[in-house]
Amino acid sequence: MTTATMVSMAEMLGGFQGGQYVLPKLPYGYEALEPAYDAATLHLHHEKHHAGYVAGLNAALGKLADARKTGDYAAVKALSQAAAFHGSGHLLHCLFWQSMAPAQTKHPEASTKELASAIRASFGSIDICKAQFAAATKDVEGSGWGILAHEPMADRLVILQAEKHQNLAIWGAVPLLVCDVWEHAYYLKYQNRRADWVDVFVKELANWSFAARMYAWAKRSTL
Ligand code: MN
Repeated sequence: MTTATMVSMAEMLGGFQGGQYVLPKLPYGYEALEPAYDAATLHLHHEKHHAGYVAGLNAALGKLADARKTGDYAAVKALSQAAAFHGSGHLLHCLFWQSMAPAQTKHPEASTKELASAIRASFGSIDICKAQFAAATKDVEGSGWGILAHEPMADRLVILQAEKHQNLAIWGAVPLLVCDVWEHAYYLKYQNRRADWVDVFVKELANWSFAARMYAWAKRSTL
């Protein structure tokens, strides 16, 4: 038995160093995936496209930090959208580089007993998992991603389609505290005054001890 090591997501993905988001080094050379994934595409994809998401994310977060200093939240909607778009693009590309390996080194069947048995429990077999993953990914509407994910509440694996990167979420983020702003959540009492509902939620209802419990749970993940 080897000792379990604590590995942070930043260490696994390399996309956050020195207090800011950074373009991670690829885990292989630009030619390493030839001919299946060509070096010219990989250069552009990593050095231009992915780098653009990193720059966009840091810029949006910098402007949000300015807004917190001045209290001027006039641009908060656009900045939140930009942070979600670029943040999700950054995280998904970090995962994408790690999701590929040169043909001679990859492990075509799930490479640990734990993952293999989770796949069999969730999908029936590894081949069925691959078939659903391929079908779902081919059928994403517009631009997006196919994603194999662990859904922690049921502790099982799911295959998701993401349109664009985000739809205002960051994949892999664990929610700690949520406020429902569908009209059904507040309309009987607050009618069209969503802002009043949100203010009341933040000032009077928000359960920060629950958020602290979720945070403790999110931080204890091990590899
Ligand atoms: Mn991409």
